[in-house]
Amino acid sequence: MNTVDAIDYRTEEAVRLTCAGGKIISLEPLGGVAPAGLPVLLPPLVDIQVNGFAGVDFQNDTGTRADLEKAANGLAAAACSRFLLTLITDRWDRMLARLKHFRDLRAESPLLTRRIAGWHLEGPFMSATPGFHGAHPPEFMVAPTPARLREIKAVTGDDPVLLTIAAEWPETPEAIRCARELGFHVWLGHTDATVEQLSAAVAAGAEGYTHLGNGCPPQLHRHDNIVFRVLDEAGLRASIIPDRIHVSPLLFRLFHRALDPARICYTTDAISAGGAGPGIFPLANMQVEVGADGIVRQPGKANYAGSSLAPLEGVRRAAEMLRRTPQSVWDFFSTQPAKFIGLPPALVAGAPADFCLLTKQGKNTRVEIHFAGEAVREVTWAG
Ligand SMILES: [Zn+2]
Repeated sequence: MNTVDAIDYRTEEAVRLTCAGGKIISLEPLGGVAPAGLPVLLPPLVDIQVNGFAGVDFQNDTGTRADLEKAANGLAAAACSRFLLTLITDRWDRMLARLKHFRDLRAESPLLTRRIAGWHLEGPFMSATPGFHGAHPPEFMVAPTPARLREIKAVTGDDPVLLTIAAEWPETPEAIRCARELGFHVWLGHTDATVEQLSAAVAAGAEGYTHLGNGCPPQLHRHDNIVFRVLDEAGLRASIIPDRIHVSPLLFRLFHRALDPARICYTTDAISAGGAGPGIFPLANMQVEVGADGIVRQPGKANYAGSSLAPLEGVRRAAEMLRRTPQSVWDFFSTQPAKFIGLPPALVAGAPADFCLLTKQGKNTRVEIHFAGEAVREVTWAG
């Protein structure tokens, strides 16, 4: 049994967290006068779009349990306790086989069972139009159909599943209704849908929009474009990549003004370069290049191909772009994505003893990451 006294980031009140056996036993108000200098207690991060991390690419068929555990531990060192393992567009039978392979690997590993909260299929039901398919191979895009959705369900069982699909397929509204009946979450993305198509998708059950501001050409019409249409479609949640690269600080701030904060979450959209330095990294059958600027590019192409962002660093950059404290943006990368995908809440009795402690030290900020009650890593952000 061990206890941590801290300030709850939600209420700003002093609390005592009691943990034993890797679980939270209780989280109670401390009462009395709180001692000065307590750290701020925060939940672990949740990332709903991770294509690879720590040198490990999820877009291949030879990944081993050790590879997945390496990626999961890399994410844990970046404060992320749960993530949706994300597969990008490939030939349909290969995607299904890959999904099954990773699900089998997860079942063998208690660590992976805890960390891989579910699956995100980004494709193949998206736009094949240049500029909108991004780094996804357009030749493998196919229409969403109930038959294909049932094939996914046969692999994933009752696991949380997020599908990113384009709204302009004639099949999309019916497919969304079918996906919702199967228990899937449907977000729109890599799409140039009209206002009417977006509205029809939302009416059918689409809940969100994947990496708003990306999955579209770098140059858009000034009067009417997919970003404006999504912002105008009340009711859609949105994920945003807070790396300063995929969305400029200016646009990032504007998104936070235009969208209801309860509808925003962050994601890294990290590839194998996530948490690593510059270099050449695998992404499916491509080699992508990460520059000293941290930007992931397909050699010779202008579009970005995922990010090298680590989740905790995403919190730091978001806070910096919004000129706010890290704890005030923390929910966008923790409780909100968890809620959007229906994952159990963290920082409650019975949950794993996964949490972060944030301490201001002069101009610097220290973040301690604790998983299953054990200190995992300490990060200091220079002020
Ligand atoms: Zn994408």
